Amino acid sequence: MQTSFEELQLSPALTAVVQDLGYTQPTPIQIEAIPALLAGRNIIGQSQTGSGKTAAFALPVLQGIELERCELQALVICPTRELTAQVGREMRKLGRKHRGLQVLELVGGQLSRPQRDSLERGAHIAIGTPGRLLDLLERGFMKPESIKTVVLDEADRMLDMGFDDDVHKIISYLPENRQTALFSATFPRGIEAMSREIQPDAQRITIETSDKDLADIRELKLCYGSDDKILALCWALQSQSAESALVFCNQKTTVREITEELSRGGISVDRFDGDLEQFNRDQVLARFRNHSVRVLIATDVAGRGLDVEGLDLVINYDVPEQAETYVHRIGRTGRAGATGVAISIVRDETDRDLEDIEEFTGQTIAILDHSASKSSTLAELLKQLAEGPKMETILISGGRKDKVRKGDILGALTGDAGGLDGKDIGKIEIQEKLSYVAVSRATISDAVSCLNVGRIKGKRFRATHVGR
Ligand code: AMP
Repeated sequence: MQTSFEELQLSPALTAVVQDLGYTQPTPIQIEAIPALLAGRNIIGQSQTGSGKTAAFALPVLQGIELERCELQALVICPTRELTAQVGREMRKLGRKHRGLQVLELVGGQLSRPQRDSLERGAHIAIGTPGRLLDLLERGFMKPESIKTVVLDEADRMLDMGFDDDVHKIISYLPENRQTALFSATFPRGIEAMSREIQPDAQRITIETSDKDLADIRELKLCYGSDDKILALCWALQSQSAESALVFCNQKTTVREITEELSRGGISVDRFDGDLEQFNRDQVLARFRNHSVRVLIATDVAGRGLDVEGLDLVINYDVPEQAETYVHRIGRTGRAGATGVAISIVRDETDRDLEDIEEFTGQTIAILDHSASKSSTLAELLKQLAEGPKMETILISGGRKDKVRKGDILGALTGDAGGLDGKDIGKIEIQEKLSYVAVSRATISDAVSCLNVGRIKGKRFRATHVGR
């Protein structure tokens, strides 16, 4: 018998939301974690990207929120800004029937002042990265007394990134009788120690990952032998005719090199590495998510918690040194029921690192037959690949704070107001203070001017075309 969401003792409002979202059945981690958290227990949960772990803690957290008390009741600590944004999005999505719910994202790389002001105005849930959270606590801007639940998301990554001390200090500010949930993909010794210290009697939740539970990912390797590696990348891209592809490299110099090379060849490509400023990171990701950029080249440092999901294709331009990194990388594809493909580019069949990975994951990585594309030259391949999607992104200077909704933007662009056809408009993404909308390349200048001239919610906002 399959467990249903109704059996998990979620409130009718939350059950309705998960139904609206099309979550037909809880995932294994949700089946275990939701009842334990609702019963007030501490948990240490093993979770992989794509396992539905965000909802596994977000649903019980939301159920415990007393909306009429506008004070912090839950805190989620994440290793990266991108993961923070991702958790924030899921929390708001699941909390959409909680009227007046305030969810704050508190991360570094952004001015602290507006975050302090938001805290001052009051919020129910805070999600953030360790450095900024600690700073706000130490300086007395964040009031921890009413926090009932703290969640450590991707705890192993936080240790890897050296946030151990910060996390301990944050925890020391929280009430003793709080509930503590810790999620981690792996359980190295440091995690066990941390768990013993911060969450007594934690219930351990380990999900046996049978093939059925794992995201459906086809793992392949492409062997380039004596050919050019960049050519192999093009073969890999071409073999799948994927709408978007995420390519990982081990070094940021490689990221730059291949971004330039593909870009010169006319491919819709951008890079995502640790050198990008926060604002540019947001823009690059928004453009990748809405298909204005087809290929994104990234490093692992930047790729941790990189906020994209459900990709068709992930390519390892370089095989990572650690098997965990491999699992994390390929987890961006094949989520929530969709099949994805992960291709690793290697010189020859017997790549030691890839063999170690196979041993670690227990999955065999099959060889991708690329003989069909072998006859084409690099120039020919680039030309074919350049025929990608033709969307462009517009940044609008208003967001959730200004009560801007998707329908408002759609309304401003189409009908009598904008005159654009609905089919020229792609994904619309509303963030806290700004929004992104994708429009077809042919309509970009009309769309920008119509947004600048017109009004949204009776207000004027600035619209700019964002590109590379
Ligand atoms: P996560 O592991 O939290 O990164 O979630 C992976 C993806 O699965 C997210 O896009 C969720 O919206 C989605 N998801 C979470 N729970 C379910 C569910 N029970 N059924 C289908 N999709 C889900």
